[in-house]
Amino acid sequence: PRDAAFFRHWLTAVAEAVEEEADRLTELDSAIGDADHGTNMRRGLAAAVSAVEEERPPTPGAVLVLAGRTLVSTVGGASGPLYGTLLRRTGKALDDAPEVDLGELAGALRTGVDAVARLGGATAGDKTMLDALLPALDALGDGLDAAARAAEKGAGDTVPMRARKGRASYLGERSIGHQDPGATSSALLFTALARTAR
Ligand code: ADP
Ligand code: MG
Ligand code: MG
Repeated sequence: PRDAAFFRHWLTAVAEAVEEEADRLTELDSAIGDADHGTNMRRGLAAAVSAVEEERPPTPGAVLVLAGRTLVSTVGGASGPLYGTLLRRTGKALDDAPEVDLGELAGALRTGVDAVARLGGATAGDKTMLDALLPALDALGDGLDAAARAAEKGAGDTVPMRARKGRASYLGERSIGHQDPGATSSALLFTALARTAR
C-alpha cells in the first residue's frame, strides 16, 4: 500500500529525471516540434513538486489532482493540459483512499490515460505520449519494473512512426526517424515510479 508521501516522492523523482533529461527532451522536440518540451516539463514539474510539498494534500488522489492542476496552469504547450489531465483524472479515480495498492493505481491510471486519449484525440501508433503510456499500462499487471521497461520500449518504438497528432504531424513524412519527445517524458514517469517503489 502506498500513501500520500509515496506519491509526493514519485513526483519528486519525476521532476529530478526530467531535470536530468531536459536537454535531451528539448533536442528531440527540436527535430519534430518547437524545441520546448524539456523546458515545459521542467517548469511544470518543479511547480507541481513545490505545490504538493507546500500543501501536503492528505491522500494519494489529492496529491495527483493538485499536481495535475499545477501542470495545466504552468505549462503553455500541448503537454501541460495532457499531462495535467493524466494526473488529475488518475487522482480523481483514486477518490479519497488514504492508501492505494498496485491494482488500484493501475485502474486509476487507465482512467487517466483514457482521458488523455479523449482530450488529444490520439490513439496507439500516432507517435505521441500514448505510445509509451499504453504499453506501460498493459504491462502493469506484471509489476512496476515491467511497466517501466514497456514504457521505454514504447518510446523507442515511436522512431519509425509518422506523427498524426500535435505539432510533429505538420511535418508529415519528415516526422519519421525521430523519437517522440512526449513518449520519452512519459517513459520517465514510469521509470521514476519503479525507482520510487524500490
Ligand atoms: P507543444 O507541442 O505545444 O510545444 P510540448 O513540446 O511540451 O508541447 O509537447 C509535445 C508532445 O506532446 C509530443 O511529443 C506528444 O507526445 C504530445 N502530444 C502533442 N499532441 C498530442 C495529442 N493530441 N495527444 C497526445 N499527445 C500529444
Ligand atoms: Mg514543443
Ligand atoms: Mg510549444
